[in-house]
Amino acid sequence: MRIGTKIGNTVLIPLTVKAIDLLDIPGVVAFSTMRSATDVSDPYDGFNTCSYTGDAAEHVESCRSEVAQLLGIDAGALIMPRQTHSANVKIIYRHSVSLEDTDALVTCMRQTALCIHTADCVPVVMADVEAGVIGAAHSGWRGAEKRIVAATVDAMCSLGARPDRIVASMGPSICPKCFEVGDEVAQKFERYGAVSRINHVAHVDLYRVVAATLEDAGVNSRNISLPPTCSLCDCDNYFSARAMGVSSGRTLSVIMLR
Ligand SMILES: [Zn+2]
Repeated sequence: MRIGTKIGNTVLIPLTVKAIDLLDIPGVVAFSTMRSATDVSDPYDGFNTCSYTGDAAEHVESCRSEVAQLLGIDAGALIMPRQTHSANVKIIYRHSVSLEDTDALVTCMRQTALCIHTADCVPVVMADVEAGVIGAAHSGWRGAEKRIVAATVDAMCSLGARPDRIVASMGPSICPKCFEVGDEVAQKFERYGAVSRINHVAHVDLYRVVAATLEDAGVNSRNISLPPTCSLCDCDNYFSARAMGVSSGRTLSVIMLR
């Protein structure tokens, strides 16, 4: 993945965008972008490619063209769905498709960047390199409840992937210590053993729910990587809706077959 100079886990890219690698597999590029904000109190300051959460169109466009340049593709090959916390998975066969109400993408097309935007929800990228099939999903608690990552694995398998060959990685997202929820939400995740109480307030471990759902779908636990960091603990570097409000920029997680 020669997309920049690597220092530890951080890839420094010779543009303004900085990113953290999610997978280290030949032939696959997968990373999450960092904010690189100069004023962290401004909810849109930094690198943001999400067009529907209130940022200025020109800023979004310039960030998109930067990430396209970084990947060596046209901006039209950045596949960016309009996410709605659904469990809808779309298989991408061509670049110009309607992506309304879509929270996961799957493809076997090369040079086609599957993009997921998050600010605390869990972005998940997946690949079966042998089959040449990749996937990306957005799993907040609603997507986790609907088991969107299992639906993504199914869609990948419809293109020839095999669950036991799939490698999956979660991007920066909210950690169990930070993810306070009401009891109604917590009870949906008791069966995963993913609920804890801190000062009588329920907390959900979304990482555990996503990993358990992937394992149920046949993905080997040793092929599942947890997020490199928490978006809220580390909100100077990653967008966090809990820190900045839902009207804020989003972290972009990308996966692409070279
Ligand atoms: Zn945290």
